[in-house]
Amino acid sequence: MSFIEFKNIEKEYKNAKRKSVTDFNLDIKEKEFIVFVGPSGCGKSTTLRMLAGFEEISGGTISIDGQVVNNKEAKERGIAMVFQNYALYPHMTVEKNISFGLRNIKTPEGEIKKKVDWAVKILGLEEYRHRKPKNLSGGQRQRVALGRAIVRNQKVFLMDEPLSNLDAKLRNKMRAEIHHLYQMLKTTFIYVTHDQTEAMTLGTKIVVMKDGIVQQVASAEELYRNPANVFVAQFIGSPQMNLLHGKIFYRDKKYFLMVHDHRIDLPKEKGEKLEQKDYIGKKVFVGVRPEDVEVLDMSRGGDGLKMNIEAQELLGAQTNLFLKRKNTHIAVVVKGRSDRVIGSECAICLDADKIHLFDIDTEKNILK
Ligand code: ADP
Ligand code: MG
Repeated sequence: MSFIEFKNIEKEYKNAKRKSVTDFNLDIKEKEFIVFVGPSGCGKSTTLRMLAGFEEISGGTISIDGQVVNNKEAKERGIAMVFQNYALYPHMTVEKNISFGLRNIKTPEGEIKKKVDWAVKILGLEEYRHRKPKNLSGGQRQRVALGRAIVRNQKVFLMDEPLSNLDAKLRNKMRAEIHHLYQMLKTTFIYVTHDQTEAMTLGTKIVVMKDGIVQQVASAEELYRNPANVFVAQFIGSPQMNLLHGKIFYRDKKYFLMVHDHRIDLPKEKGEKLEQKDYIGKKVFVGVRPEDVEVLDMSRGGDGLKMNIEAQELLGAQTNLFLKRKNTHIAVVVKGRSDRVIGSECAICLDADKIHLFDIDTEKNILK
C-alpha cells in the first residue's frame, strides 16, 4: 500500500484565470525521497501546501497511511514543513528555536534535552547552540530550521526550495547534507525545487511539472535516458538537449533518418516501431544531448553533418562548443580543452543509439 496518495488533485485559486494544479496523481512509498521540479509557477508549492494542510484542495483526495486527510488540520497530519524562508524566531537561541515545538506540546524537559542534543549533533550545530539567528550564516540558519523539524519525529518532511537563498558553494554543501540527513533519518521526504541538479542528485523519484500538469514521474536516470516529451528532455540536463528537424525514411529495406544531408541509419527494431506508428516519410524532432554528439575534424572527412564553430567556453574539465549551420544551432560538450578555431568547419556525427525522437505536434517521445 502506498503511504501517501494524491488522487486526481486539483487546485483553483479564487479569481485565478486557470487551474494551478490539474489532475495530479502520485503514489509515494515510505522512505522515498520525492522531488517536485519544474519552472517557477508550475504548481509545486501549491501541491506541497495542499498535502501539508495549508491550502484547501479544490478537487480529488489526498491520503496518508490510508486515511483521507482533505479535512484534517495541518497539525494532525504528522508532517514537518521546512519553509523557504526558515521562519526562525529571531529572539531565541538555536537551542530554543529547535525545542520550541516540543515545549509547545508539553514534552518533558529531559526528553527535550535528549532530542536537542541529538539534533545539534547530527546537524553540526553543537558550538552554535547558544547563538541567535542573526549571528548565524545562511547555511547554519537552514540547519536550525531542519533541526526544528527533525526533533518532532514527524512521518514526512516537506521542504520548499530550502536552498534557494544560499550562494552556489553553500548550496552544494547543503545539498550533500540533506542527502546525508535523509540517509540517517530514514524517513519520507518531499522536496520542491526549480533546480534540475538538485532534483537529479536528491530524488529517488522525481515529479516533473509544467503549468500545473505532471509531465513525468521517474528516477533521475530514467528521466535522462527516456524523457517522456520535449519539455522533460530539455528541462533535465545542462546544457540542454539539442533539438533538430529530421525526417524518417524506409528505402532498400533500410530504415534511416535524415537531418539536413546527414543520414543516420536506424536499427531494424527501431525502424519497425516507427513504421508501426506510421512515421515513415514524416518529419520528427530529433533530440540529442550535447555530451552525446561526436565532433569530427574536417581532415578526417567522413559523412557527418557539416557545421561551423561559432563559440566555445572552456569550463576546465570540459569545453562547451556552439556550432551553427544556417538556422540550426547545436551545443556540444567535449572533454578537456578544445583548440578549435572559431569560424572553422567541423562535422558532427549522430549515433542512432543516442538520439531521441519526438512527434512534432504532440512533442511526445515516439519510441518510449
Ligand atoms: P511554484 O511553487 O511551482 O513556483 P506555485 O504553486 O507557487 O508555483 O503557483 C502555481 C500557480 O498558482 C502560479 O500561477 C501562481 O501565480 C498561482 N498562485 C499561487 N498562489 C496563489 C494564490 N494564493 N492566489 C492565486 N494564485 C496563486
Ligand atoms: Mg514555489
